[in-house]
Amino acid sequence: MKVFTTIAEVPLPTVRRALVPTMGALHEGHLSLVRRAKELGQEVAVSIFVNPTQFGPNEDYLRYPRPLERDLELCEREGVDFVFAPSVEEMYSPSPAKVQVPLVTDEFEGKLRPGHFDGVATVVAKLFGILRPDVAVFGLKDLQQCAVIQKLVNDLNLRVELAFEPTLREDSGLARSSRNVYLSDEERKVSAQIYQSLQKCRLAVLEDRNAEETIQEEISSLEAVGFKVQYLEWIDRSTFHSTRTNKENGAIVFAGYLGNTRLIDNILITA
Ligand code: AMP
Repeated sequence: MKVFTTIAEVPLPTVRRALVPTMGALHEGHLSLVRRAKELGQEVAVSIFVNPTQFGPNEDYLRYPRPLERDLELCEREGVDFVFAPSVEEMYSPSPAKVQVPLVTDEFEGKLRPGHFDGVATVVAKLFGILRPDVAVFGLKDLQQCAVIQKLVNDLNLRVELAFEPTLREDSGLARSSRNVYLSDEERKVSAQIYQSLQKCRLAVLEDRNAEETIQEEISSLEAVGFKVQYLEWIDRSTFHSTRTNKENGAIVFAGYLGNTRLIDNILITA
């Protein structure tokens, strides 16, 4: 497996190239994307870059885990062809151009984390320019990010196929995340309730029960066990705005704090 840290080293593709963009601290969720990438491409590239421009000033950029040696071992074991792990200086000039994706960034993560999706869309556009993948694989765990990247590719006519893969969970139902290392044992147990609440809301929507009431009940029960809920909402994936009608392309999305750890999760209404 090759490891490239500069843009100049990255070869142009000669076979169908599949890319898995990550911020490292790889877990089974990331590895499930790598396995999918192996099915979709003849060559698999993983990028590992903790992108500063997608973190807010009071977020966890500095303490974000960076176990690079271990990540490289995991990639090697999965049969990744090359890893692209650049420095911040390699990626950004002093006054860099940036990409903005409107509409799907109006609410939820876009509203709560100003500038976050500009950072995401810009770094993904750059990675596509540097690595020239035929296909790129992302996780539905970050559902709004998927909507942003789909719109980026559509609106800028980027010639890359996208694959969005299901969220890998722990046995408890907790979505795997690099940020789960921040959780205490007790918080880890409590976190299992997120998925239970998502499932209850989904069922209420599917059974045409009062979704509004179920959502309010689940917010209360999450808060009762210690969550500070930022949102628990039924959304339309095409606009990423709230809906009370769209089941077909709908999802329930959640974000909240448990102690100092911010967790997000979601469930599709029809999957
Ligand atoms: P990150 O390193 O957090 O930027 O994530 C890199 C990619 O892995 C993104 O496309 C995420 O959506 C995806 N991902 C993160 N957690 C999971 C998970 N539990 N299951 C599937 N994909 C995931």
